[in-house]
Amino acid sequence: MPVATTKRDYYEVLSVTRTADGEEIKRVYRRMAMKFHPDRNPGDAQAEIAFKECAEAYEVLSDPQKRARYDAHGHAGVSGQHDFSHMDVGDIFSMFEDIFGGALGGRGGQGRGGGQSRAARGFDLETQVELTLLEVATGVEKKIDFEKQDHCEKCSGSGAKPGSMPVPCVQCAGRGQVAQQGFGGMFRMVTTCPNCRGRGQVIKDFCTSCSGSGRQLRKKSVTIKIPAGVHEGQAVRIAGEGEAGEAGGPSGDLHVYIAVQQHNLFSRHNDDLVCQVPISFVQAALGASIEVPTLKGSDKLDIPSGTQHGEIIKLKNKGVPNVRSGKTGDQIVQILVEIPKKLTEKQKQLLKEFAGTEDDASVMPQRKSFMDKLKDKLKGD
Ligand SMILES: [Zn+2]
Ligand SMILES: [Zn+2]
Repeated sequence: MPVATTKRDYYEVLSVTRTADGEEIKRVYRRMAMKFHPDRNPGDAQAEIAFKECAEAYEVLSDPQKRARYDAHGHAGVSGQHDFSHMDVGDIFSMFEDIFGGALGGRGGQGRGGGQSRAARGFDLETQVELTLLEVATGVEKKIDFEKQDHCEKCSGSGAKPGSMPVPCVQCAGRGQVAQQGFGGMFRMVTTCPNCRGRGQVIKDFCTSCSGSGRQLRKKSVTIKIPAGVHEGQAVRIAGEGEAGEAGGPSGDLHVYIAVQQHNLFSRHNDDLVCQVPISFVQAALGASIEVPTLKGSDKLDIPSGTQHGEIIKLKNKGVPNVRSGKTGDQIVQILVEIPKKLTEKQKQLLKEFAGTEDDASVMPQRKSFMDKLKDKLKGD
């Protein structure tokens, strides 16, 4: 069952302000990565999630260009390559070697051990799905059709000719990695074996169907459940639906990004829906009960007498559910008071009579112009 992923703000993840400089971000990240490192929190899944979250945030915020894109567009600005949730902890460390300076290094070599071969994980794929605002409000299931490099059916992804077996790599004795002593034996550097490219084994007879890659292009179709309340640019991650890894390696993930169609009446503000409803000046003055559109139909709205142009009336719980809490927002109706452009003789007469009842009985053409009033105001009287 695919689960919607929502991302925390990167600055929040690292507990730094938006103005924090590169040095501070580096310092905070190093501290947090040490704290949450799985070696120090064995068996603690939460710590591992936090560790990956920090790495992802650091990867973006430590790069001035990515950070600028993130500042301007949020996660959507840096989407795609920056989801570390699936990554191996050892891989994350090898990406940030400069930061840790080998303090916790070597995990990749020692942790896996046991002659276990390690085939490269396949690439993540990205696609987009467009929703109507109504679909956002209700949640929806969408069928996604896409093409991906999938495991080869003939060789089951091994890349070896059926009936033949890959043989262990001689150079790394099947471990996929080779260790080197660095700088006079100060530390040990573990690198991917160049002979088998980390797989631990080499193919002698290639599969004819995939020429040894273990993969072939295939059409796929998945149905995903999109929860109510998602926002433009958020992604739903489907684990294992990315490209297959080479030589039987694990598949990447598919990230389905959400796009939301513009609605002709409503605009979304957080979990609220905003719309404008015109009423006549008589309705505004006397009050009225009118029918207003809602996302799912229409609703009765009471306009109190004396309602002013631009005033806001809320329809409770007629907005969009919050994607995390499920609590539904409101519909915010902004009232636009329309002044008639044409009046009949009778209407004119009635309005003049009405004007005669007001204390300030000046009507056109005797009325002081708006500009004069403004000037008086600016003079300060
Ligand atoms: Zn094959
Ligand atoms: Zn090897």
